[in-house]
Amino acid sequence: MIVVTCPKCKQTMKTQPKGELQGKKKRCVYCGRSFQLITKKEIRISS
Ligand SMILES: [Zn+2]
Repeated sequence: MIVVTCPKCKQTMKTQPKGELQGKKKRCVYCGRSFQLITKKEIRISS
């Protein structure tokens, strides 16, 4: 289980992806936006 942050509404949510994280998409449960899962490290670099 990992925690991801929506790039649109900045809400955090838990997800449990299967296999590789890279390229996986998740739909935000708050605003409905789909976004690619990225690692915590990548989030820190981009923000
Ligand atoms: Zn959202």
